[in-house]
Amino acid sequence: MHFETTAIHAGQEPEETTGAVVVPIFQTSTYAQTAVAEHKGYEYSRTQNPTRGAMETCLAALEGARFGLGFASGMAATSTAMTLLSQGDHVVSSNDVYGGTYRVFEKVFRDFGIDFTYVTTADLAEVEAAMRPETKLVWVETPTNPLLQITDIAGVSAIAKKHGAWLGVDNTFASPYFQRPIEHGADFVVHSTTKFLGGHSDVVGGAAVTDDPEIHEKLAFAQNAMGAIPGPFDSWIVLRGLKTLGVRMDRHESNARRIADWLEKHPRVRKVLYPGLESFEHHEIAKKQMSGFGALISFYVEGGVDEAVAICGKTKVFTLAESLGGVESLIEHPGKMTHASIPPEVREPRGLGDDLVRLSVGIEHIDDLLADLDEAMKG
Ligand SMILES: *Cc1c(COP(=O)(O)O)cnc(C)c1O
Repeated sequence: MHFETTAIHAGQEPEETTGAVVVPIFQTSTYAQTAVAEHKGYEYSRTQNPTRGAMETCLAALEGARFGLGFASGMAATSTAMTLLSQGDHVVSSNDVYGGTYRVFEKVFRDFGIDFTYVTTADLAEVEAAMRPETKLVWVETPTNPLLQITDIAGVSAIAKKHGAWLGVDNTFASPYFQRPIEHGADFVVHSTTKFLGGHSDVVGGAAVTDDPEIHEKLAFAQNAMGAIPGPFDSWIVLRGLKTLGVRMDRHESNARRIADWLEKHPRVRKVLYPGLESFEHHEIAKKQMSGFGALISFYVEGGVDEAVAICGKTKVFTLAESLGGVESLIEHPGKMTHASIPPEVREPRGLGDDLVRLSVGIEHIDDLLADLDEAMKG
């Protein structure tokens, strides 16, 4: 079955009692039992809920894996995944990870006796050098935010396996439509379904997917034990988003390519970061492991911070906002918005200066998007 068909049908058989074509929102906390401890596989909605189950089944199928688990947010999925570890374990992580991921690693899990080393995972030699006997997990985000750095998933997987560690990949930026890390050797994948999977900026959610029964068993136990689950309605919203993921991603991507090409020729732009551009540092590895390059573009503006901030304030179709992955185009200034918590002396050497602007390209008409940017960048 092809991706688009799976997205519409996996886990979504017509409902048994009524034949409802769309999975109903089973807004219930509990389920009647026919006799003591005899039930239909559903006891209590933290543990199992049919609407959440449909979303979990569909998402696992889209990642090419057997097991999926839904969470209340991307951070809930990541935090629950950390229960794979114990005190004394060590994690090698991408240094350009989502800010909330870095925060939960450093401010929560470090206090539980887990150690973290941050490296440029795009450089496999750095990953290899950071591995220790107690390294249990390698954590990769690819592409990263906002610099869109690409890590060779198969390459890191080989290193992790050699050292007996798991590889977890945050696949939020690419979505399974463009990248399926488990097919490249990742042991599990996490998502913020808030972004492309939900796709309409109207829900916060997360997921973890694996093809490894042992990992699944541990994560499913922790999902129920810790309880950071999505409600039936939020699960339904994400499931509805999944149905159109393919068509949305195609449009996100074709719009983004046009805008990246246009920006690259713009006299007020110093440099464009987009994995689909031949000029992009990691273009070759992106081409190898992704079937498309996504909707996020970052670019450096000539003239520095004032110019960058001015452009962010002038667009009319691009909304000035954090987050990404919805049908509407967004613009933001990472230095003063999403990445403001990283001190300038740490972020600037990494290329995250105040002359950087980030776009999440939506699925509006390309001519309107280009006209909007053209107007905002006239000066
Ligand atoms: C948004 C995001 C998260 C966190 O997800 P929430 O749903 O906001 O908790 C994690 N990773 C990446 C790459 C993200 O963009």
